[in-house]
Amino acid sequence: MGLNIVILGAPGAGKGTQAVRVSRERGLPHISTGDILRQGVKDRLPVALLAKEKMDRGELADDATIVEIVRGRLVRSDTGAGFILDGFPRTVSQARALDVIMDERKEGPLLVVDIGVPHEELVRRLSRRCICSKCGANPERPENAEAKCPRCGGSLVCRTDDTAEVAIERLRIYAQATKPLVEYYSGRPSFCAVNGHRLPEQVAREVSTMIDGAAARAAAAGAEARGVGGR
Ligand code: AMP
Repeated sequence: MGLNIVILGAPGAGKGTQAVRVSRERGLPHISTGDILRQGVKDRLPVALLAKEKMDRGELADDATIVEIVRGRLVRSDTGAGFILDGFPRTVSQARALDVIMDERKEGPLLVVDIGVPHEELVRRLSRRCICSKCGANPERPENAEAKCPRCGGSLVCRTDDTAEVAIERLRIYAQATKPLVEYYSGRPSFCAVNGHRLPEQVAREVSTMIDGAAARAAAAGAEARGVGGR
């Protein structure tokens, strides 16, 4: 059975940071739809260039485009033992599409980790964020303007979609389109909620414990529960 993990949370909740850690610890590919789109913009891929205007405004790219990107990524051979999805799904329609993909894969349940952080803290974090031009990580902006990416040593640049106004728009869209996912998933034995308003190391420890617990519960719930929605 694969370890198929979805990390949910508002922009700024620390999904990327935690996803990178889990990916390293468990040896699973980290699949960030935001990173895929940003790389696509750099590579001048038409599908990503179409999404760029929406990304710059803090809006969501359309569901069909994103679902096709994820579907294409999940058929690659490195996902055989599982994967960490970061930034997908972001709408209930995307979550339904992911359920269909998971049913087709028959590679074990989806474990969903929701990282919760209070609104004011999210605004504070978003207005301080950068992105690594090399690996796509998005750590908080360091005090030292010369500082390099903590993940790969690449150069850090401020994201064009993280001005205060756009940050607030991204949070509004999160509340409207993405937060309903918590309700969509919360009845499943494979769902768990983590308090993200702590040091990244503390959050990481809880995420790890929660993943093991969710995997055990989902396995115990077995095929019968999967048939009634406990994917
Ligand atoms: P992120 O790095 O995850 O914050 O994503 C950056 C931007 O990419 C988002 O603000 C959206 O415009 C777009 N994007 C990434 N993932 C998705 C998704 N699952 N659905 C729609 N748009 C997305």
